[in-house]
Amino acid sequence: MVFPLAHPGSLFYLVPPGLKVLPGIRVKAPLKKSVKVGFVVSVREDFEADFELKPLVEAVDEEPLLSEKLIELILWVSGYYKEPLGVVFASALPPALRRGKGVSLPKRRLVAELLRSDVEVPLTRRQRDLVHLLREKGSLSVSEIEKVWGFSRSVVYALQSKGIVELKPQDLFEELAPVREEIVLNSEQKRSVERILASSGVFERFYLYGVTGSGKTEVYKRCAVEVVSRGEGVLILVPEIALTPHYVKRFIDVFGDRLSVMHSALSDAERAYQWERIRRGEALVVVGTRSAIFAPFKKCGLIVVDEEHDASYKQSESPRYNARDVAVVRAKMEGCPVVLGSATPSVESFYNVKRGKYHLLVLSSRVKGASLPEVSIVDMKKEKGIFSSLLLAEMEKALSASKAVMLLLNRKGYSRSVVCRACGLLLMCPNCDVALTPHRTHSGYRYVCHWCGYDAPSFSVCPGCLKESLTMVGYGLQRVEEALKELFPDKRVVRMDRDTVASKYAYWKILDEMERGEIDILLGTQMIAKGHHFPNVALSALLLADMGLNIPDFRASERVYQLICQMAGRAGREEKGRVVIQSFNPDYYAIKYGARCELEAFMEVELESRKAFKFPPFAHLVRLLFVGTKEERVEEVAFEVKEMLQKHVDVIGPSPSGIRRLKNRFRWHLIMRSNKRGVMQNLLDAVPMSHKGVRILRDVDPYEFF
Ligand code: ADP
Ligand code: ZN
Repeated sequence: MVFPLAHPGSLFYLVPPGLKVLPGIRVKAPLKKSVKVGFVVSVREDFEADFELKPLVEAVDEEPLLSEKLIELILWVSGYYKEPLGVVFASALPPALRRGKGVSLPKRRLVAELLRSDVEVPLTRRQRDLVHLLREKGSLSVSEIEKVWGFSRSVVYALQSKGIVELKPQDLFEELAPVREEIVLNSEQKRSVERILASSGVFERFYLYGVTGSGKTEVYKRCAVEVVSRGEGVLILVPEIALTPHYVKRFIDVFGDRLSVMHSALSDAERAYQWERIRRGEALVVVGTRSAIFAPFKKCGLIVVDEEHDASYKQSESPRYNARDVAVVRAKMEGCPVVLGSATPSVESFYNVKRGKYHLLVLSSRVKGASLPEVSIVDMKKEKGIFSSLLLAEMEKALSASKAVMLLLNRKGYSRSVVCRACGLLLMCPNCDVALTPHRTHSGYRYVCHWCGYDAPSFSVCPGCLKESLTMVGYGLQRVEEALKELFPDKRVVRMDRDTVASKYAYWKILDEMERGEIDILLGTQMIAKGHHFPNVALSALLLADMGLNIPDFRASERVYQLICQMAGRAGREEKGRVVIQSFNPDYYAIKYGARCELEAFMEVELESRKAFKFPPFAHLVRLLFVGTKEERVEEVAFEVKEMLQKHVDVIGPSPSGIRRLKNRFRWHLIMRSNKRGVMQNLLDAVPMSHKGVRILRDVDPYEFF
């Protein structure tokens, strides 16, 4: 059995007589000086130990939480990504069950509903404000009242006790209005559905290639109906929570109680409850993010990976698995079809399709017949400031026609950095090898480190030359916001980044307002671009396309291509849209082809370069990251490990990682590269988790290089 810890590995225990123990149940067992909850991996009758086995204390579950197939999948993930088995087991279960709890009916989120609006009793100002708000909105969830609208719970309770407000538990899907449409599939959709269903009960890999709005969701839905009618489960993976409503709205009418969602915005109790519904076979269609890959169906009949190219499928902490790739493995184990879908395929998947590993299904036309937007690339070398003259003119045009504008810049904070005009010093974080970013707050400017959270009031005396000549340079979202409000004082400008949308509710609220056309200019990081469709947007712009290119990552061009093509390839539903891409390298292939969504042309150049530099899909990579407080030691260990590895595989590095020092810890890394996965896997078994006080983190098929 294993415990949900990085150490130790699998342990053996004696099953005392009378205790019913099966693989996949949780048990309590002595570990060191206490008793802990762990998971049973296997039970053996004929085990001969040459040491004394401790007996298990008790069984937590009567029947397995995890099926044999799921245990097999967990073992595979642990073995392939070289992650501790106990950690993978834990991540396959909802948090409450990990801790040894049972499943209880969750406390549903409470909704406050206004009973009377002709209020005569005396109210405090806050209570009156809330009544006004509820009068406008009808009803709101209590957490939204708290988190989005800033009322404390006590205001809600006070109104409840006065009989003005009623509190009711909220249904998981209630807030999402179902989308009901009578749809006759077009011929490409029909062919895709038939082809996928023809593989029922067999492992086959499909790639559904089609732009946003080409009707992919409808294809998934039709397939799901068929699979569910056989009593089998359908798993739909989405890269982020924000994309779940898209499916829920379209699926809820058809599947009702059979639909479930799995993601981290649910409460622990709700997650455990949904998980149990799936395990019992009550819910058969699951829409979820990464960890939903372990959805406990009795029998899985179809797996869909939407927006397959998205890097969010790769978990950046242990266990570092890629849910897209695990999906394919699970489909193979389950013996069912798997469909990856996207308008902007990853290079790996494109290559797999080319090699015939995937069966390609194409939705080439946009169902609602909208035309592609007109895209312009602006050379920023010839412009001043952050808005090119073309962009300014287009903004004027869109706004004066009462249309909305979407601007994207992947940089939080006020400006890029702080430099000294006298000596050229770049202000750095005291704990990390990272430049500090100025942020504007109520109380003035602050210098912030995005990596360790260092945060200090701004100052203007240069620590290098002691002259008063520190100055903020470049544009961050806050500064762009400031400029927009000056340019368009009577327009509603909303900024969306991790600072303004700390909660999921705030995020949904902005998207909702955007959908209803209540925002004139939406400004934000990449998070505004993902999969959403806003009918009122006439113009969208990428303020600095080059930003993603200056990072040491072999997928940098791919990501820039995808981002631009996603913007350019979005159908303007009613009218022709307009896209402006601002760049200092307008002729760079990823930007040029991205703007025209020329997938084949982009891939030709990209694959050529991946091949020349031996990057995936032409080689497998493993990244080892060495972390410690003494840099000499970190470097020394990195070179020792390289010594051991390089007899068998290519080793790039070691070198200081993209961020050499983080939170006062030094970081070096090396990349192992080989065509032979098996060789690398075996080598990894010989690499310790730590050595001489230096931690060694392993990342198989890495997506991050800082
Ligand atoms: P995607 O998932 O590729 O972004 P959707 O499946 O969401 O696309 O389809 C986009 C829109 O077109 C939706 O409003 C959907 O209801 C509609 N739609 C899909 N297929 C058809 C069809 N065959 N005929 C008419 N409308 C369709
Ligand atoms: Zn820092």
